[in-house]
Amino acid sequence: MKINTAEFVISNSDVSKCPKDFLPEYAFIGRSNVGKSSLINMLTNRQKLAKTSGRPGKTQLINHFLINNNWFLVDLPGYGYAKVSKKTKSVFQQFITDYFEKRQQLACAFVLIDIRHEAQAIDIEFMSYMGESEIPFCIIFTKADKISKVKIDSHVAAYKKQMFANHWAEMPPYFVTSSTEGTGKEEVLNYIDEVNQE
Ligand code: GDP
Repeated sequence: MKINTAEFVISNSDVSKCPKDFLPEYAFIGRSNVGKSSLINMLTNRQKLAKTSGRPGKTQLINHFLINNNWFLVDLPGYGYAKVSKKTKSVFQQFITDYFEKRQQLACAFVLIDIRHEAQAIDIEFMSYMGESEIPFCIIFTKADKISKVKIDSHVAAYKKQMFANHWAEMPPYFVTSSTEGTGKEEVLNYIDEVNQE
């Protein structure tokens, strides 16, 4: 798929204020600093559509971008555990779970994982939450240029193993990307195109 137009539409922290249009949307989410903004800019051929920063804890907003006038790209904030009392179970920020549970237009979410690191509990928990909630998602491994091909393969294999250990029957679809080198761009955009045509 070729991206011809990419326009910022609205930012808010309340899912009820997201655009009312019934266009399919694709959400991008991951831990802070995972390379989400760089990936969004790479996919859309824009240098500053999503604001990049090396600094964690940026504003917690749901950002909608209209792509080619026929689908939304949604930039979600970095997930983390909401501060709840020690006795209650850890949960993700309320407006993130609200988004996933209420947004009917969601066609697929992309959960971003930094390929350099071993599986982190919060990422596995987040994917388990998505699986249990039956929200369709794919994994996007980021920053593939930072490690060798051999390491990429072994890190992906370690993720698969970890997911099977967490009762997954199969690995969700996944993509290996590098925003600095443009790796994986066609694959992700073609996947979106395929889902749009279903
Ligand atoms: P965000 O917080 O998830 O939006 O992450 P950013 O896109 O702001 O990226 C965080 C840091 O990682 C920045 O210093 C980026 O330059 C760097 N970065 C992001 N993607 C890549 C990549 O594919 N390759 C390399 N080498 N660095 C990256």
